[in-house]
Amino acid sequence: MTESSDGQVYDVVILGGGSGGYAAAFRAAELGLSVALVEKDKLGGTCLHRGCIPTKALLHAAEVADATRESAQFGVRATFEGIDMPAVNKYKDGTISRLYKGLQGLAKAHKLTMVEGEGKLVAKDVVEVAGKQYRGRNVVLATGSYSRSLPGLEVGGRVITSETALGLDHVPDSVIILGGGVIGVEFASAWKSFGADVTIVEALPRLVPVEDEAASKALEKAFRKRKIGFKTGVRFSGVTQDDSGVTVSLESGEELRADYLLVAVGRGPVTQGLGYEEQGVTIDRGFVIADERLRTGVDGLYAVGDIVPGLQLAHRGFAHGVFVAEEIAGLNPVPVVDSGIPRVTYCDPEIASVGLSQKQAEEAYGADQVEVLDYNLGGNGKSQILGTQGFVKLIRRKDGPVVGFVAVGARMGEQVGEAQLIVNWEAFPEEVAQLVHAHPTQNEALGEAHLALAGKPLHSHA
Ligand SMILES: Cc1cc2nc3c(=O)[nH]c(=O)nc-3n(C[C@H](O)[C@H](O)[C@H](O)COP(=O)(O)OP(=O)(O)OC[C@H]3O[C@@H](n4cnc5c(N)ncnc54)[C@H](O)[C@@H]3O)c2cc1C
Repeated sequence: MTESSDGQVYDVVILGGGSGGYAAAFRAAELGLSVALVEKDKLGGTCLHRGCIPTKALLHAAEVADATRESAQFGVRATFEGIDMPAVNKYKDGTISRLYKGLQGLAKAHKLTMVEGEGKLVAKDVVEVAGKQYRGRNVVLATGSYSRSLPGLEVGGRVITSETALGLDHVPDSVIILGGGVIGVEFASAWKSFGADVTIVEALPRLVPVEDEAASKALEKAFRKRKIGFKTGVRFSGVTQDDSGVTVSLESGEELRADYLLVAVGRGPVTQGLGYEEQGVTIDRGFVIADERLRTGVDGLYAVGDIVPGLQLAHRGFAHGVFVAEEIAGLNPVPVVDSGIPRVTYCDPEIASVGLSQKQAEEAYGADQVEVLDYNLGGNGKSQILGTQGFVKLIRRKDGPVVGFVAVGARMGEQVGEAQLIVNWEAFPEEVAQLVHAHPTQNEALGEAHLALAGKPLHSHA
């Protein structure tokens, strides 16, 4: 085998240092493999620098703002004086920078060969960066995703995507958000808490359309109460902008005016012009088609993370990366299945889910073979203390295991850990009902829901 420009042949060359790429790199190094990791921007990728971490920092600042506004309700005297956006950004950027330092330290500790620059696949086993070639016995494609727009909708000026939104140095007076999926509702929630007037436009009939219908309904009710505007089942038709704002027109003939239009219509795969197709990789609508072992069909060439069709989540990327490293090392790991991956939407209230929605379960097993239980957080002591409303919904195969979980309510994202063990270990409600949940926690709501589903409800209100 011909060597790389640096005289080596690596066990693994990884193109892209985001969640999927760096997880593959770290695990491969742990297994004693030699690794070259190519990154054109910053180690950590979208999640750390432009995604999960900055948005969750904004949402935490939003929670603090709401707690301050509502403090009198808890007998605490405080005055909400407003949002200092540069200070919020400093807190957000400080969080990112601490994690970034930690990640760089881990890369060093794993003795990776870090290659800075834009890479291209020039042979099935070679990535080229600035004229230098890096040859690997295996190559992992991990180039991630970018903010998509709609045909004819040009991003620029006051028409922004999440990347620009995260860097704004002020709270806009008003924003229109195109797209009521995860990214759209998270920004809507944060901006509303910061004092902006927000309207979401979603073409499908409900917000968070990929979630169980009950979650959409509860979120829409909560957003109405929070005075977050939304229009569902209506299509965007165009936008114009001037010095003071944007005018958005809808197919219904309605026109909306705001300071900004945030385009949050999904993430497209970064695969164009990188040599993938030329090396025989199958691309479908920009995504890399891989089998359940994340093989592209080209010998020694794997794909991980957002470029593989399915849930675009950081922890899926991590799991893909670890899987591929172990596969290359010959450990025969268990494939990562999307339906077992926990999902959290971090708006207020939060949505947590794993496994099948009621509709998916009914389609899979037949409506008469599915049992559903709704546990209202009204019966949960800690949720009452926090002043949050919502529910835990369990979806069970009749006389069988729990196949789906969905919950809505403040902080309910934290409950998805136990829920994913229940769903992925195919636990029966009767088994979970035997386990004791600490009082008073929101986690108890899971215990109570399983008690009720096992036929022995304790604090359940019909
Ligand atoms: C606003 C927002 C909020 C999000 N919130 C969450 C959340 O709360 N939880 C969650 O799980 N997920 C969240 N996500 C999704 C998450 O960020 C992605 O699923 C995850 O980052 C995907 O990892 P990846 O490794 O596939 O790609 P990326 O993280 O996009 O990494 C790809 C890397 O490859 C590099 N690269 C690309 N092309 C080349 C090239 N030619 N040469 C060299 N390097 C290259 C890029 O610079 C990048 O660093 C969010 C995303 C966004 C945008």
